[in-house]
Amino acid sequence: MAAVIGDPVDHSLSPPIHNAAFRALDLDWIYVAFPVAAGDGASAVAAMRALSLQGLSVTMPHKADGAAAVDRVSVTAERLGAVNTVAWRSGALVGENTDGDGFLDALRLDEGFEPEGRRCLVVGAGGAARAVVLALGNAGAAEVVVVNRSADRAAVAAALSPAGRVGVPADAGEADLVVNATPVGMGDGGLAVDAAHLGSGQLVVDLVYRPAITPLIDAARAAGAVATNGLGMLIHQAAHAFRLWTGEDPPLEAMSAAALSALTSADGPSPAPR
Ligand code: NAP
Repeated sequence: MAAVIGDPVDHSLSPPIHNAAFRALDLDWIYVAFPVAAGDGASAVAAMRALSLQGLSVTMPHKADGAAAVDRVSVTAERLGAVNTVAWRSGALVGENTDGDGFLDALRLDEGFEPEGRRCLVVGAGGAARAVVLALGNAGAAEVVVVNRSADRAAVAAALSPAGRVGVPADAGEADLVVNATPVGMGDGGLAVDAAHLGSGQLVVDLVYRPAITPLIDAARAAGAVATNGLGMLIHQAAHAFRLWTGEDPPLEAMSAAALSALTSADGPSPAPR
């Protein structure tokens, strides 16, 4: 059995994604969502031992608390100060962070974009942005520019990559890859990046996936860029968690179909995400 803890988790896509994966491989597993209030994250992670849970996903607001409740953390989770996946290794609870690997897989496998040697710009400096900045740096990006509302947080995020620096919105015009890692555009109609800085030859990834076509994706496509949402990252980070828990190759097609179907039934029919 595996589970996700968070608040809120009512509309989490993780249960349909993982249950579809278990079914596709005929594994006798089930994945459930536990609403856990802020402040109770560490005790919920520790309960994995008593409940014999085989895997745990940790989402907002528990990603930092999760790190304190496990026996050890991976190098990536330690650098990010955030755990999104807990798995058993030789009787110990290990905290991992699969967001960055999920983001890179979405770039490479879904978009055919290799970040090595490329100029990248990330808007935002929160948990998702930091995972993306670290991953892009590890993947050999030539430059990782961080633009954020709060300058002090931008500097902290940029320091996660040897190629990182704090920039300004207009730097997007020079970037091969532009990533929105803020909630801007999630129902507020806002644009995280001015369309004047976007154009052909660029890949724009909006980590928001509700709505499937965000204002940024719309504007980027109108400007001639290729643009996609964050569903790919969500599916691929889940795939990494699935592999850590079960040791099996994740059935990506089944996971992706389940995510799309759950999004459609929750939000009503929507255009294809890419
Ligand atoms: P977070 O830790 O709360 O960080 C939010 C970031 O957005 C901060 O940098 C914040 O700036 C900025 N921000 C918030 N509201 C803003 C506004 N009105 N104008 C400008 N900047 C604003 O959140 P997170 O966990 O990183 O998540 C960020 C986004 O990524 C969310 O939309 C989330 O749904 C999405 N996400 C997607 C995936 C995926 O798998 N696709 C995974 C994780 C997150 P300040 O530093 O100035 O406060």
